[in-house]
Amino acid sequence: MGIMNCKRGLILGLANEYSLAWGVAQALHREGAELAVSFQGERQRDRVLDLAGRLEISKIFECDVSNYDAIDQMFNEIEKDWDSIDFILHAIGYSDRNELRGRFIHTSLNNFLTTMNVSVFSLTAIASRAHRMMKRGGSLLTISYFGAEKALPNYNIMGVAKAALEATVRYLALDLGPEGIRVNAISAGPIKTVAATGIGDFRQIMQYCKNASPLRRNVSIDDVGNVATYLLSHWSDGVTGEIHHVDAGFHAVAMPSDFDFDNAPFDEDSYNENA
Ligand code: NAD
Repeated sequence: MGIMNCKRGLILGLANEYSLAWGVAQALHREGAELAVSFQGERQRDRVLDLAGRLEISKIFECDVSNYDAIDQMFNEIEKDWDSIDFILHAIGYSDRNELRGRFIHTSLNNFLTTMNVSVFSLTAIASRAHRMMKRGGSLLTISYFGAEKALPNYNIMGVAKAALEATVRYLALDLGPEGIRVNAISAGPIKTVAATGIGDFRQIMQYCKNASPLRRNVSIDDVGNVATYLLSHWSDGVTGEIHHVDAGFHAVAMPSDFDFDNAPFDEDSYNENA
């Protein structure tokens, strides 16, 4: 008996076997969930069909979340077979990769609006449609990043979007709580995926996080999948409005424990001036 037995839900954001959504789908499947998946466009179809087949998923929908009619159509299709739904994973983000490098001040209005629409508003658009099917309560989960809380180079407009996404989690939690619907986010550490490699100097960001994290490693899609399954299951029935870090502890420290104090540059004169 898995912890997701008798639960069914929809996964948005599966592109390939590197996607965080794939880590979550596998963990949910292992725990007995019945799944439906959506993908963004024709280019992803064959790969997503293959992945879905491996988990015996037959409900597969094409849905660009910037198209609200497509969201409606998808839920209409789901409702034909399922009279209710227990959970949704929203693992979607997009921004023009040319603006995920260089100076933040060069963010264009057009890309600001697109990034906010696809990466942030889509959660509310999905929630407004899904909550009607969550008759026995439910769980919504999205994926954020530490760039929502602290600024880092290159993440730029995506950091602003993730901050808005985390605020959206809290407002949806407040709004949907009386219906027994919980809304949470995982703030994942850097993982090599198609979306992530669009961020400038991503390899170095990953290495930096590994070196500075208490656990001295990067996290995997399986790490994210296991925590996501807990947040989508009844094991987290008392948890909502939460941003749960799955980042090997990176967010919790200001300096790595093996910082090389002996060899770090040190200016004796300026230290004495400030003493
Ligand atoms: P990914 O490229 O595998 O997944 C991104 C998904 O977003 C893809 O399936 C893509 O098709 C989908 N998408 C983009 N625009 C869409 C649209 N208009 N309509 C429908 N779908 C759309 O990359 P990922 O890293 O698995 O990203 C999943 C989520 O995790 C994103 O929100 C990302 O910001 C977040 N995240 C990733 C990392 C990381 O390091 N990989 C860390 C923290 C948070």
